[in-house]
Amino acid sequence: MATAARVDLDGNPIKPITICMIGAGGFIGSHLCEKLMAETQHKVLAVDVYNDKIKHLLEPASLPWADRIQFHRLNIKNDSRLEGLIKMADLTINLAAICTPADYNTRPLDTIYSNFIDALPVVKYCSENNKRLIHFSTCEVYGKTVGSFLPKDHPLRQDPMYYVLKEDTSPCIFGPIEKQRWSYACAKQLIERLVYAEGAENDLEFTIVRPFNWIGPRMDFIPGIDGPSEGVPRVLACFSNNLLRHEPLKLVDGGQSQRTFVYIKDAIEAVLLMIENPARANGQIFNVGNPNNEVTVRQLAEMMTQVYSKVSGEPSLEVPTIDISSKEFYGEGYDDSDKRIPDMTIINRQLGIALFPLSFWFLFGVKIILTGFGCGSARLEPQDITLG
Ligand code: NAD
Ligand code: UDP
Repeated sequence: MATAARVDLDGNPIKPITICMIGAGGFIGSHLCEKLMAETQHKVLAVDVYNDKIKHLLEPASLPWADRIQFHRLNIKNDSRLEGLIKMADLTINLAAICTPADYNTRPLDTIYSNFIDALPVVKYCSENNKRLIHFSTCEVYGKTVGSFLPKDHPLRQDPMYYVLKEDTSPCIFGPIEKQRWSYACAKQLIERLVYAEGAENDLEFTIVRPFNWIGPRMDFIPGIDGPSEGVPRVLACFSNNLLRHEPLKLVDGGQSQRTFVYIKDAIEAVLLMIENPARANGQIFNVGNPNNEVTVRQLAEMMTQVYSKVSGEPSLEVPTIDISSKEFYGEGYDDSDKRIPDMTIINRQLGIALFPLSFWFLFGVKIILTGFGCGSARLEPQDITLG
């Protein structure tokens, strides 16, 4: 439980604040609410259209933090109560978004509206009312790496200058407009530019967060179980779904894309530091990821197959993975980020966040996802699992 003795990174006592958290009912929001309730004295005005992922924090009324969290069911597209909630709070955190890649090329209008247009009033109300804003962007604003344009066997592809993604120097490289995959990245980039400009011209106190593939329990949905049967969630949930249904895991365009994954609870530590150290976090754009935890999607599939077999006691399928074209899997207009390695210099300098320890939490996260998605109470220790 929280005590009055909590101090910030400069040794000053932390005063409890009120946070308006928009998108609090989603994956990241639910973990952030949990952390704020369990370890701090801050109050949360939790805004979302859904609350099933935070129900355990809202009921029963006897919970020790019951007077510190309020749920407001509202759609920020069209609800006049939003400005009042932002005014009541010291800090607004905006997590609301359409952020599953399967939507970017099939629902580009909804994607652009959700990530840009709907976020506009939040930025405006914060700026006009002199309220601090933590805005959630994405690592996808970097798009493709510079190195991806070099020939496959070019030696410079191995040079970090050509692939490490750095907040203040890397360009944002998206594909052509007909590749509607980039509608999300482009909308996120424009809202980042708007937030940054509000800071520069109107002194908005802001922090922009670029998550690099945070994973853990409550991420997305299992199609037909707790989400639409035709829906396509992010890769962890897709692969979990395939495993639970005893289907081969589908590797889009051969599963050659690379990602660095971070366990949600590690990432949330970083967000709490941003919340409680405004002088260090304001005016900053932060990558939050683990540069040392890279796998190809194919390796991820192999690892999850191995984990599932251990957790369930069932042998792996004879053909555990199949290749599928992106056109068949996602439809027209899909494109991909080739590689995402975050540079962590800025967050390390401002908030003292060391590189997250190797792949322990990644493996642990995979375990939790699988157990969370119905593999029962089978116990599997992280050291039982080996990568690759
Ligand atoms: P999520 O989909 O689980 O959560 C988003 C929440 O916002 C949902 O609960 C949704 O109901 C709510 N929401 C959306 N539109 C709304 C509206 N109009 N009014 C009210 N509520 C609305 O997604 P997440 O993984 O928790 O991501 C949160 C943020 O972080 C997003 O902005 C996303 O782009 C960004 N992000 C996340 C990751 C990651 O690794 N999870 C990676 C990159 C970026
Ligand atoms: N992917 C895949 N099979 C699936 C789902 C996703 O091969 O069933 C790939 C996808 O093409 C991408 C990577 O996995 O290269 C990560 O996809 P995700 O949806 O998690 O989001 P992203 O990291 O691209 O934002």
